[in-house]
Amino acid sequence: MHQKAPLDQLYEQVVLRNPAEPEFHQAVLEVLDSLAPVIAKHPEYKEAKLLERICEPERQIIFRVPWVDDSGTVQINRGFRVEFNSALGPYKGGLRFHPSVNLGVVKFLGFEQIFKNSLSGMPIGGGKGGSDFDPKGRSDNEIMRFCQSFMTELYRHIGEYTDVPAGDIGVGAREIGFLFGQYKRLTNRYESGVLTGKGLGWGGARVRKEATGYGTVYFVREMLAAQGSDLEGKDVVVSGSGNVAIYAMEKVQQFGGRVIACSDSSGYVYDPAGIDVGLVRQIKETERGRISDYAARRQNGSDYVRGASIWELSCQVALPCATQNEVTGGDAKALIRNGVLAVAEGANMPCTPDAVKLFRDAGILFGPAKAANAGGVATSALEMQQNASRDSWSFDYSEHRLKDIMIEIHRSCFETAEEYGRPGDYVFGANTTGFCRVADAMLAFGV
Ligand code: GLU
Repeated sequence: MHQKAPLDQLYEQVVLRNPAEPEFHQAVLEVLDSLAPVIAKHPEYKEAKLLERICEPERQIIFRVPWVDDSGTVQINRGFRVEFNSALGPYKGGLRFHPSVNLGVVKFLGFEQIFKNSLSGMPIGGGKGGSDFDPKGRSDNEIMRFCQSFMTELYRHIGEYTDVPAGDIGVGAREIGFLFGQYKRLTNRYESGVLTGKGLGWGGARVRKEATGYGTVYFVREMLAAQGSDLEGKDVVVSGSGNVAIYAMEKVQQFGGRVIACSDSSGYVYDPAGIDVGLVRQIKETERGRISDYAARRQNGSDYVRGASIWELSCQVALPCATQNEVTGGDAKALIRNGVLAVAEGANMPCTPDAVKLFRDAGILFGPAKAANAGGVATSALEMQQNASRDSWSFDYSEHRLKDIMIEIHRSCFETAEEYGRPGDYVFGANTTGFCRVADAMLAFGV
């Protein structure tokens, strides 16, 4: 165990250098925990201080975002872009608009993004950004003014060969539209590849909207297939009711699974007949409403359970698709007790370290976010590819590419875990595969 000590020391250094950033510390620890055998096998990584370098973002940008609300009052928010690692390509990662956003949260997401993007096999580096702006209850005009102000600073830092933002929580096609419009206005360039998640009529890619949710389900299907099982007839619980959750539910149903519940931050909807995804889309995408209205609209005996954990429901497959640290150790125990077979993270880091340990110790198939939800960013890279060649692919072809990417991510995680004598350990497989590709490129580039 003498190799473990330097990694412990490195973790302590990261905590000291980045105080009060618990999510970032959590993400770093989770990766470092996997890497001792890799470092033992590759002394050249240690010599080049690759781990130390990878834990330090290449560039961190923090800026003021002033805007005027509908009542004429000036509002000030904080904007972030962390350009974490560009070894494999331009920085790539979403923008999150949510009151919980701070530098530590953006760094955790950016750090995860490095390995996720590497695992996707596409030529993209890792970055993330966002703001503590809360879009809830804001009018379209307020969202527009905020996005314009945000881009007024961000535009000088991004570009199709530099840094390519996309959406995340609180940022969808509407926000990407306002951001792209402002970028175009400021630069006088129709640079489609500067942002992904664009509308279909102006450079967007088919399947991008669906890709994270679909990809997560492709991944869980591969994990089950490796055990000779599938989704057919399985009860599935999907947390969240945003973009990732909606398309995860849709794909589960296409594969014959029964989605019995989804949720929002106040509670969950239980629908024993199987969630009506069309109705969730109507409420969330079209009306921008709350899913607490679902039961009254559905009128089939389904229920909205306020203030309770969705993970108390019995299911064979659990797909956390809401936000970080939403599955606690207690939730994991309940899921295991109720017979869960597979868990795949559609959101970024939704399971706490306690929960992950419980799943792994219990031999539950566990697909970590950087592998299971990589379909979103992979399809963003496909959008960049279409933009670069001024092309637009069909839905079927785009989905076929996404499916192949997810199968390949699963295969590489699975085989790396086997190679190191850790069969079935997707956390180890994902961290190791993701890390080695970035590390090899950094080695090639010198210090
Ligand atoms: N926000 C997504 C993620 O967490 C997608 C990022 C992108 O498409 O650049 O991976």
